[in-house]
Parts: sequence; C-alpha cells; structure tokens
Amino acid sequence: MSTVLDERQSGKTAEKLAFEANKLSKRLHRLVGQAIADFNMIEPGDKVMVCMSGGKDSHALLDILINLKQRAPVHFDLVAVNLDQKQPGFPAHVLPEYLKSRGVDFHIEEQDTYSIVKRLIPEGKTTCSLCSRLRRGILYRVAGELGATKIALGHHRDDMLQTFFLNMFFGGKLKGMPPKLVSDDGKHIVIRPLAYVPEHDLAAWAEHRQFPIIPCDLCGSQENLQRKQVGAMLREWQKKHPGRIENMFSALQTVVPSHLMDRNLYPFAGLQPTGVADAGGDKAFDEDEDCGTPSTAVVQWPADR
Ligand code: SF4
Repeated sequence: MSTVLDERQSGKTAEKLAFEANKLSKRLHRLVGQAIADFNMIEPGDKVMVCMSGGKDSHALLDILINLKQRAPVHFDLVAVNLDQKQPGFPAHVLPEYLKSRGVDFHIEEQDTYSIVKRLIPEGKTTCSLCSRLRRGILYRVAGELGATKIALGHHRDDMLQTFFLNMFFGGKLKGMPPKLVSDDGKHIVIRPLAYVPEHDLAAWAEHRQFPIIPCDLCGSQENLQRKQVGAMLREWQKKHPGRIENMFSALQTVVPSHLMDRNLYPFAGLQPTGVADAGGDKAFDEDEDCGTPSTAVVQWPADR
C-alpha cells in the first residue's frame, strides 16, 4: 500500500519528468527550426516528403515537422513515405497504423530490394551500399511521382560528424554530410532538418513519445563497423573532453580555406602580399606551435617591427 510520502515522491518525479520533457521538446523544436531557417530548407508552398524508416530518428523528424507545420510562418505540406523492402519479419502494419493515427498524408512503397541484394551480393559481404543505392533511386522516383519539392532525411548532428571522420579516415577527403544538397540525379533538393540535433536527444524524445519503432536489423546485415568505431571514438572523446563534439560541429560550419591545403579551393599559387595587416591571419594556428609562443605576441609582431 502506498504511503502519502510515496505518493508525494512519485508526484514530484512525474512533475520533474514533465518539466524535462517540456525542456527537451522546446530544444528540439528550436534546433530544427534554426536549421530550417539557416539553410532555407523549407520554402512557401513546398511539399516535403519525409522518408520514414521506422527508426527513432525518422519518427522524431516527422513528429517535429508536424508540430512546426502548425506554427510555421510559411505554408508547406508533408507526406510521409516508407519503403517496404520486403525484409523477412518487417511489420508492414506498424507504420500505416501510426501514420493514420497522426492524420498525416503517407505513401508506402513496396519494392523487394531485399531479394535483389541477397541475389547480387555474395554471402558474408556487406549489403548496405547496394541496398542504400537501390533505396535512394526508388525514393527519388517516388518523390517525383508524389510531386514532392523537398526530400527530408532523418540524419542528425552525430551522423554528420561520423561521416566527416569516415571520409577523412577512409576516403582521404574533408567531406561531411550536408544539411541541404541536390540529389545525385540532379532532380531533387534533399534536406536534413535534424542537422543540429544530438542523437541522445532524439533517443530521449522517442522514448518520451513512445514511437512504434521498427528494428533496423531485420535484413540481418552487419551494421557498418567503421561507422560504429568512429561513433565510439567520438563518444569517448566527448567523455574525456566535454564540449569537444560541439567544437568539432562548430568547426564544420567555420571553414577557413586559406588555412587548409586545397589548391582548388584557395589560389595559393598566385598569392601576393596585400600590404594590409590581418588580425585574424595566423593567430589561431601559431598559438599551439612547439615553442608555445603566446598568440598575442604573434599578432602584434608586424606592428612591433
Ligand atoms: S542495414 Fe540492411 S536495410 Fe539497412 S542499408 Fe544495410 S542492408 Fe539495407
């Protein structure tokens, strides 16, 4: 039998939980609204096709866009699209039931890419790259058929950072996952409204909202091992050096081509003295050199001469 104290304590817990959920909700909607505004992702009259895998990220994306649509300064339409790839055990009823309950337009596209991938990729080899390529092609076609002007994907901040490091470690490129881009076929604009959102906030939101999550391992394929390792590396860094992820993410938005080495991005060959001091010039870069020269000394150096 519960005591008055128990009841008071559980009341307090419920109050605290509601407070936390409210804070999380505000943060998520603010971050998504900010990303949409910063990159002009959604314009008046757009029809946004939200790609739903049934995982926590795409669920959160749709949920937040439904809410933002009600208070956005511009009118836009939403259509949720799920590709049923005919993986064994795929619970085909889950998304239609949920989407109906949310009162959102939706389309389920049935294409047996699972069999194609199984037929073409030898046993034991990674199937994800062919599977994603097929899925992309189908989603672009569906977007055209539905008259969608934007294709929204549920990638978040941590996906973007992981991709950046994967490209650097294994692809030899400084290249990330853009918040907005033209699709490979040149016909669509793809947007990532969760670009500023950390993954743990999406996980917390999915739990709070009790989305009917469809597991992502139905195909039986191994998760991308390299991505997993990079994700673990980033989490470890963040644990040891809190704020590092935020700094790295900020760096992705603050690129200084004159201080990298891409000759196509900056005209190093034709560089000439300008005769004008640049206070921002080398400051940040000389600071950490071996001799430990304080940055102020470096900046003042031309004036001291
Ligand atoms: S995990 Fe399975 S469904 Fe997902 S991309 Fe890889 S092969 Fe396709």
